[in-house]
Amino acid sequence: MNEYLIPLTSACTLVTLNYIATKLRSKMLIESHEHLLAPLLTGLASIIMMLQPLPEAFGLIDLRSLPIFMAGLRYGLPVAILSTVLPSGYSFILQENHGLFVIAQDLAAPALLSSFFHNKEYRSGFLDIPIRHGLQICTLVFIVRLMTHAYLTGSFSLDYAADLLFMQFIMTATFILLIAMVNDENKNWRLQRQLEMQANQDGLTRLPNLRSFISIAKNAMRMRKVSIMMIDIDNFKRYNDHFGHLEGDQLLRDIASILRHYVQEQDYVARYGGEEFILISTETDPIRLAAYAQRLCEAVAGSFQEQSNNVYPQITISIGISIAGAPQEELQQIISEADHALYESKHSGKNRFTFYTGAKIAKHKMNAY
Ligand code: GH3
Ligand code: MG
Ligand code: MG
Repeated sequence: MNEYLIPLTSACTLVTLNYIATKLRSKMLIESHEHLLAPLLTGLASIIMMLQPLPEAFGLIDLRSLPIFMAGLRYGLPVAILSTVLPSGYSFILQENHGLFVIAQDLAAPALLSSFFHNKEYRSGFLDIPIRHGLQICTLVFIVRLMTHAYLTGSFSLDYAADLLFMQFIMTATFILLIAMVNDENKNWRLQRQLEMQANQDGLTRLPNLRSFISIAKNAMRMRKVSIMMIDIDNFKRYNDHFGHLEGDQLLRDIASILRHYVQEQDYVARYGGEEFILISTETDPIRLAAYAQRLCEAVAGSFQEQSNNVYPQITISIGISIAGAPQEELQQIISEADHALYESKHSGKNRFTFYTGAKIAKHKMNAY
């Protein structure tokens, strides 16, 4: 085989291996074991590169350092160092010439150098790895190798420099291709996440929508006792009629952000639809729930003082609360109970919360406003 084709064959093998690894990562959801699988796959790729030695003239024994460069850049120093374990062990078993020097130069140094360019967002996939890192690393390697060779032989050979340059060209091109493949896979992953988020989010208020609320609430109810609050803006039709629909939309966004802010840490609030919101809480003590609901009513009523006028004197909400009697109770049943209690809040004057208590409804007028 033409000796110039050997590094090309190695490079193609590496690109194929990288393709398989990225597909494995996304298809088999191996993110959780990544800290072990990444060094394992990188180490194996490095060993496969060792099976294809390059002609001596090229200045590089093989492309074992490339997977390590990639691991350091993408995952950082610990994974890069771990990735060198398998190829170092293999080099030791083979009893390679200048074994320790080769391990230091072709495995340990690449791990250190590439981790220097690492950013933790490259690992998470939220940030693309800049192609320039590949160029910077390969340029540094080229200079260091040239200087090491000149130092060891005591002379500067143009032939050696030309072959090394050819080799560096192959390495740089492969490295850039690997980075581009990883970036492309991450871009797909980000797009998928965005679509999933949009499918679960209400476009206007950016709160979760009813669909995602139902699935989260069902899961929560399987595990523990919960309560549900149905929250409805009072006289919202009049607000729309007076200020216009765009202002009405803005009010919906503002109230959503107040609710998001005042909702307790383990709770979850979503837009039910129209001007109604739904909240699931892990709080089931009636006294603490009453204080909670009162806080929400007060927060809304206290936030829009300057927008009040004669037509629309105060922006308020009404709440209906239902506490699940036992885990496993039907979500639909509790929502309809909370809705029933909300209806009672509306009928007894609005800006208040009401508990659903079976036949008897407990009403709580808001006295603060
Ligand atoms: P109540 O105090 O009894 O709840 O009266 P209300 O006027 O708030 O309730 P009603 O059900 O009569 O009217 C709700 C209004 O909410 C009617 C509808 O135009 C408005 N609405 C629903 N969704 C949106 C929205 O996304 N944007 C805007 N601007 N208005 C909306
Ligand atoms: Mg309504
Ligand atoms: Mg309303």
